[in-house]
Amino acid sequence: MKIETIKYHRFRAKTAGPRVLICAGVHGDEFEPMLAAVELIRTVEDTLEAGEVTIIPVANTSAYAQGLRYGADGLDLARTFPGNSSGSVTQQCAASVSEMIRAADYLIDMHTGGRLYDIYPLAGYMLHDSPEILEKQRKMAEAFNLPVIWGTDNSLPGRTLSVARDAGVPAIYVEYGGGGEVNATIIRAYVRGCMGVLAALNMIADHNKAMPLKKYRVEDYTTDSGHLQSKLPAPKDGIFMPAVRVGEKILTGQLWGTITDPINGASQEVRAGAEGLVLFLRVCARVNTGDSLGGILPVAEQEKFFTIHPPETVSYGK
Ligand SMILES: [Zn+2]
Repeated sequence: MKIETIKYHRFRAKTAGPRVLICAGVHGDEFEPMLAAVELIRTVEDTLEAGEVTIIPVANTSAYAQGLRYGADGLDLARTFPGNSSGSVTQQCAASVSEMIRAADYLIDMHTGGRLYDIYPLAGYMLHDSPEILEKQRKMAEAFNLPVIWGTDNSLPGRTLSVARDAGVPAIYVEYGGGGEVNATIIRAYVRGCMGVLAALNMIADHNKAMPLKKYRVEDYTTDSGHLQSKLPAPKDGIFMPAVRVGEKILTGQLWGTITDPINGASQEVRAGAEGLVLFLRVCARVNTGDSLGGILPVAEQEKFFTIHPPETVSYGK
C-alpha cells in the first residue's frame, strides 16, 4: 500500500531559534494559501536569520487533485486529525502532518472559505487551557495582522489546531476570502502575515513591518463557537441570494438573504439572528436544507477586547 507522504520545504538558519510550521492546502479548494506558501518558500530562504521554518504548500494532495475540500476518500482532512498512518489517503495525510505539528514550536494553518464561502479576514486560535500558550497564540494572531482576531472554544476535535492543542504547540489558523477565484490581495496578506509572525518571533528582521490594522478582538468560550459549518442553517433547498456583504455591520432581524425554489417559485427570507459583523457568507448559490448560509461575529466596535462566556453572558474588558 502506498503511504501518503507530505511534500514540504524546510529552511534552517545558522542561529538557533523556534521551529515554525506553516501549512496550506488542508482543503483542496483553498488556493491563496497554496500560492502564499509558494511565495514564502522563495522569501524565507533569503530572509531567515534564526530558527527553522517548514512550509507545506499542499497538505492534502488528493483533495487538491480534485480541486475539492475533501480527499479522494471523501474525508475532510480538517476533521480527520490526528489521523492514522495505515488508514485511507486523508487519514495518512493527517498522521504525517500531525507528526510535523508535534515536532514544531509554532503552527500557522492557512485557509480560505473554499468554493462555498467568502470569509472576512481573521486569525483564529483555540482558547487554550494554558495561559502561556493562549498568550503566545494571541501574539501570533496580532502579528499576522488581519482585521479580526477570534479565539474560540478549545474542544473541537479533528483539526490541525486540535493536534497542536494536545501537543502544547501554540497555533493559529487564518481565513480570508473564498469562492473559487484567486485573489492576489489575499496572497499578499498571507505572505506578510506569516512574515509578521516570524518577525515577532525574532526569526527575521523587522524592517518590512506592516502598519498594525485596527482590529476586532473576540474570545468566545461558547461550545462549538469555532465551528463555521454549524451557523445559520438554510431552512429549505433552493438558490440562495445574499442580501449582505462580508465585513458589513448588521442588526438583528436584518435580511440576510433569500432562498428561492425555481421549480415551484416559492421564496423564503432568512434574517440575521444577532447584531454584529458579517464574518462569513455563503457564495455558492445552490443550497440544501441545513447548509450554513454564513455567520455573524457579535461585535460592535474595533479596538475593544470582547469576551463571550457561556451561557451567553457578555462582557467588555480592556
Ligand atoms: Zn479550509
